Amino acid sequence: MVKHLFFGFIPALLIFLGSSGYNISPLLFLFLIVAIGTILFSDKKGSIPGLFRDGKNRTHAVVKTNIKFEDIGGQERAKNELKEALDFLIYHDKIEKYGIRPLKGILLFGPPGTGKTLMAKAAADYTDSVFVAASGSEFVEMYVGVGAQRIRDLFAEAKELAKRNNKNSAIIFIDEIDVIGAKRDGNHLREYDQTLNQLLTEMDGIKEDDRPKILVIAATNRKDLLDSALLRPGRFDRHITVDLPDKHARKKILEIHTKSKPLANDVDLNQLSIETYGFSGAQLESVANEAAIYALRENEPMITAKHFANAIDKVLMGEQTDRKATKEEKRRVAIHELGHAIVAEKVKPGSVSQVALKPRGQALGYVRHNPSDDHYLYTRESIEKQIMIALGGAVAEEIFYGERSTGSKNDFDQVLNLIQHMIEAGLTSLGIVNTNYVSKDKIVEETNEILDLLLTKTKELLQEHKTVIEEALDFLEKEEVLSGEEFRQMIAKISKNK
Ligand code: ATP
Repeated sequence: MVKHLFFGFIPALLIFLGSSGYNISPLLFLFLIVAIGTILFSDKKGSIPGLFRDGKNRTHAVVKTNIKFEDIGGQERAKNELKEALDFLIYHDKIEKYGIRPLKGILLFGPPGTGKTLMAKAAADYTDSVFVAASGSEFVEMYVGVGAQRIRDLFAEAKELAKRNNKNSAIIFIDEIDVIGAKRDGNHLREYDQTLNQLLTEMDGIKEDDRPKILVIAATNRKDLLDSALLRPGRFDRHITVDLPDKHARKKILEIHTKSKPLANDVDLNQLSIETYGFSGAQLESVANEAAIYALRENEPMITAKHFANAIDKVLMGEQTDRKATKEEKRRVAIHELGHAIVAEKVKPGSVSQVALKPRGQALGYVRHNPSDDHYLYTRESIEKQIMIALGGAVAEEIFYGERSTGSKNDFDQVLNLIQHMIEAGLTSLGIVNTNYVSKDKIVEETNEILDLLLTKTKELLQEHKTVIEEALDFLEKEEVLSGEEFRQMIAKISKNK
């Protein structure tokens, strides 16, 4: 108010005096000094809540997150570890009594979409703290010093928000901490170093008797990239792994995200949790959402198992596209997919769930496999089976056309990764090796040997079942979808007639 009067009244007075013939130079000079001081002073005091000082609203600040630990499916171990650490914030009297150093930073790490942000929000709810969040990439600007200033603003804003709302604590969440916290190796930009140094300074400045208390939670997918200064005791010294969910956790996450959706009787969340092996929480949320969208598009009152099956395909491979393949291309794709499917049925009986000739994402067709239980260990034999399934497409093309096409590129990538995995795990004739000390030639030789052997085995298997491909081909070209059951019946019928 006073400021407005100052800036409104004084200039008017100066204009009046000036036009009345007074020498206003000394007054003008005085006014300018006071005005500049006022502006600087008000800027220092007032980073506006929710804003960095440069005026861009990058932070996400809330008094209450309304996310509870119960809203996070699975992750029981991570949740318990986090709660235990947070009790330091809640029961600070006890902590003080035992003279325990305050907990300043918790690092959550794990693959994308596993619920790290949710955990941080639940932590704020659990400790009744205000929640201020920013992402590592938001601190990075080309101007030196801006990132460091933003870190200062972030801490100031968290304290300010907690004070204004009578809260005893504030949680600052920094996602993608690796962007500013990567190892300093001398080649690094000075700007990154300054930002990281400022973060360390702010964290070092946190004291046990600070009110409000500040706790920093950071998240990353790449803990291995972080500078050791960040991980030192007294900084981010609690590390909690947030992993991809196992089968039970996937079911819980699906339950959470379908709670308010109308599910038909044929939807079996247990079965869906098996079929979504390897999915993150974010992907499972997406499956539930996409299934509901399919039901809405078809104007169906309930979300059915078919909608979920489509949603899983979409999350795995992308939306169905209108890419129109030529008739000849379609035939080649059908042969390719049937090649995968026959090998799959032969090496893992009952494993094909569907062969489809529908363009989805980058693929023109695909085979959906019945899920097996979650596996964490693989033998050489089981990896070789996976390799043969992946090779089946290209080999089938060779048998029918005499040559392969570019459609096998992804299959070959997968094959080479699997072979590399075998070599690194000591499952090949190279024995237990450190691949850094094995010559490239030796690795190439071993890879080619494994490939040749499995290509021959796959070729023999497909030659033997060429008639199945011929029969299934007509069906697939006409219907575009062949179910696992129909496919198995075809194989059985042809084998009987031989
Ligand atoms: P990123 O590493 O990509 O930042 P993140 O690990 O922080 O990901 P979140 O942002 O917490 O993942 O999760 C994204 C969304 O996925 C959540 O909003 C939620 O809908 C869903 N989700 C992820 N994990 C879970 C879970 N365990 N329980 C329920 N929902 C989950």
